[in-house]
Amino acid sequence: MSEALATLEHLLVVDPEPDARESISNRLRNSGYQVSSASAGKQVLEQLNTATFALILLDRALTDLQTLKQIRTKHSAALLPVIYLTDGTNKLSEALDAGANDYIARPIDYPVALGRIRAQLDRRAAELATIRAGRASEQDTLTIPGHTDVGWTDVIWDWDLESDRTYLSERWADLIGLAGCSVFYSSADFFARVHPADLGNVQTALNAHRAGETADFAAEFRLLRIDGQERLVRARARVVRDAAGVATRLTGSLTDFTIGHTRDPLTGLPMRQHLLDRLSVVLEQTRAGETGPMGVLLIDLDHFTEHGAAIGAALIASVAERLEAVIRQQDNAWRVNPHLAGGQSVTLARLGGDRFGVLIEGVRTSSDAIRVAERVLREFGTPFELTGQSFSVTASIGIATYSAGHRTPQDLLRDADTALDRAKSYGRDRWEIFGDEMRVQVIYRLHFENALRRALEEQEFRVAYQPIVELGQRKIVGLEALLRWPTFGLGTCRLEEVIRIAEETGLIVEIGRWVLKEACLQMRQIHQFFPRAPKLSLHVNVSEKQFALDDLDKIVSETLRETGIAPQQLKLEITESALMNPRKEVNDTLLRLKGRGIRLGIDDFGTGYASLNYLHQFPFDTLKLDRTFIARLAQAGQSKIGPDVARAIIHLAHALGMEVVAEGIEDEHQAIMMRDLGCGFGQGYLFAHPMLAHQLLMSVLTKQFS
Ligand code: C2E
Ligand code: MG
Ligand code: MG
Repeated sequence: MSEALATLEHLLVVDPEPDARESISNRLRNSGYQVSSASAGKQVLEQLNTATFALILLDRALTDLQTLKQIRTKHSAALLPVIYLTDGTNKLSEALDAGANDYIARPIDYPVALGRIRAQLDRRAAELATIRAGRASEQDTLTIPGHTDVGWTDVIWDWDLESDRTYLSERWADLIGLAGCSVFYSSADFFARVHPADLGNVQTALNAHRAGETADFAAEFRLLRIDGQERLVRARARVVRDAAGVATRLTGSLTDFTIGHTRDPLTGLPMRQHLLDRLSVVLEQTRAGETGPMGVLLIDLDHFTEHGAAIGAALIASVAERLEAVIRQQDNAWRVNPHLAGGQSVTLARLGGDRFGVLIEGVRTSSDAIRVAERVLREFGTPFELTGQSFSVTASIGIATYSAGHRTPQDLLRDADTALDRAKSYGRDRWEIFGDEMRVQVIYRLHFENALRRALEEQEFRVAYQPIVELGQRKIVGLEALLRWPTFGLGTCRLEEVIRIAEETGLIVEIGRWVLKEACLQMRQIHQFFPRAPKLSLHVNVSEKQFALDDLDKIVSETLRETGIAPQQLKLEITESALMNPRKEVNDTLLRLKGRGIRLGIDDFGTGYASLNYLHQFPFDTLKLDRTFIARLAQAGQSKIGPDVARAIIHLAHALGMEVVAEGIEDEHQAIMMRDLGCGFGQGYLFAHPMLAHQLLMSVLTKQFS
């Protein structure tokens, strides 16, 4: 903390006399501070709008104290200490009343002055540390504290309506173009950045929500950056009320969607669909002989999830920047020197998570594609510098070049993916190009697909159930249905692999339908077994592919009717990554399901970079924190995921009316930690492993219900 702050200790010296200003500034610079200066009150206010200062030294010449009063309307004494330079008695008490923290007498005795400055700065640092650690005083608990470590692309905001203290996570400074570290503002700072033409609407919506007329505050408006540019943002929030129903704070998020849906907001790169579109155009041209062949590179960062979400997002952004530079260089080289290669154009896209795709149009031989891959790998040789730390990142690359067998963009991507798998299994930090031997793998997938079809026909699948427990009383409140395939490659093949291939081949639709029906039927048996027991909620995983169906809601409703399960009892889980760039069909289906009374949950939250905004955008009832998130949290100090971040997410979820389930709880320590963080529910080996229905009936359910 102190190290981070050291770089941020930026002082502002205000003195109308140029000589005095210079000499004070120089002394402070020599003592290791970054110093700016101003000669008049107006300049001070301007500078405060564009930079964040740790402390202000204010000369007595500004004795009208107007400036100081104005500063205090926006900046608290704790976070922006002001030291008043005085001749002795001159208006000192008034200055202290107006909000000065301390004074320094002239002529300045530097050792004393530096000591006082240091004392104020240390107090400020302690305050910041307290806030960031979420240990603000009991009555004044900051509900979304220290969120600054999360790499979400959203701004998190928390407005204390009583004190008007407004926490805006560090993304805010980026968004409006401030080079600063402050996370506290007044609401006026926020409204000052709203485009005047939009301000009325924003305030009307806010007032309506505070008055309880709307369930959510939601608004889209223009935000004015410091440099005058406009950003288009979407704000969502919900008030928190005290026992008397009085609105005490407003918690929410702010998403920049200026770039729109075609570009990834984190990196500004085009996204998957763009690459696919381009690929299908070029594929057509290639097949028609109108252009030379093409190559596709899939670039995947190695061991990326180990970094945690905070660093993760920042790293992705820097990686994207570097990749862009390499690609642009290569593109230019080819343009200038077409005889070097037949390459005409290169497209870079972020495909999601830590994966990037490159389409090279008109490669002459596969060595052109390999050359690009090698350049990329070489670029990764230099570590990435983020927040004063250095991160070594390596990547694996799969290459596929066009051949007559490629009919669709997916064919090429699949082959590049196979090559990528190979690069990973050969030890990462390398490229592999799709070749004949890899067709063997494609054939393996084909066999797998056939085996899946047979399993469906022969009814080889089973459903296992894992209890979800309430963390306080440790009572089972729900069951998650998990697919099992006992006869297939027992132990050698992870379920994720089965699901992946089922998704790739579209078989997931049928498998998913079967799982839902089976789970509902078995749930009914459980009811019959324990007729007086409270009804358990039934969690069923649904793949993105199923959500893209336009009749998923009908299928689900029919199944519920046939099996006699109430819609409110069912909860469909969709994995976070599917929500990253949700297709329109997915949104529509979610809404229709909701309309039928079926509940929805986000699964594996905290693994990808799903925008927090989705929490507002979709009508989710449950948020499941991924087990890697829990594990990282439990290893205190090992990662940037601190308890503040977890608490902030849990709080936001609750404010939005969602229940929070912690997944993968393996030991007592994790269970207690999550309970203490306010998480209501847990699931994991500590409580029970997934088991078949009859095992469940004979063990944990009998224990609880009879
Ligand atoms: P999920 O929905 O996140 O399910 C939780 C996974 O964590 C399960 O893995 C479960 O066995 C495992 N797990 C539970 N407690 C613990 C624990 O304490 N420690 C550890 N290390 N793991 C724990 P499983 O059964 O292998 O399922 C993997 C994934 O496959 C599921 O993740 C889900 O995304 C998917 N899946 C399972 N069944 C279906 C299905 O019917 N349809 C679809 N579309 N996906 C499914
Ligand atoms: Mg799940
Ligand atoms: Mg999960």
